[in-house]
Amino acid sequence: MLSLRRRDIVCQQAVELVTDYLEGALSRRDRRRFEAHLKACPNCAAYLEQIRMTIQLAGAIEPDDLSPEARQDLTDLYRRWRSE
Ligand SMILES: [Zn+2]
Repeated sequence: MLSLRRRDIVCQQAVELVTDYLEGALSRRDRRRFEAHLKACPNCAAYLEQIRMTIQLAGAIEPDDLSPEARQDLTDLYRRWRSE
């Protein structure tokens, strides 16, 4: 589990929190921080949307049910974005 001691989370933390966020597994405070980051960071907001779309395309499955391959796809997506 991530420890978010700093007031502002950074992109790497936001990305790691996305599945927990979609699962509703974040504490209220972490969720607020996550959403605050999304408002300030269009890249992470776009990333969240891509994951939502990926989950929808995969057949409305729960994030928990993502296959290792799907998770790898998301990781690749993130790396590609980071390298841009
Ligand atoms: Zn970000």
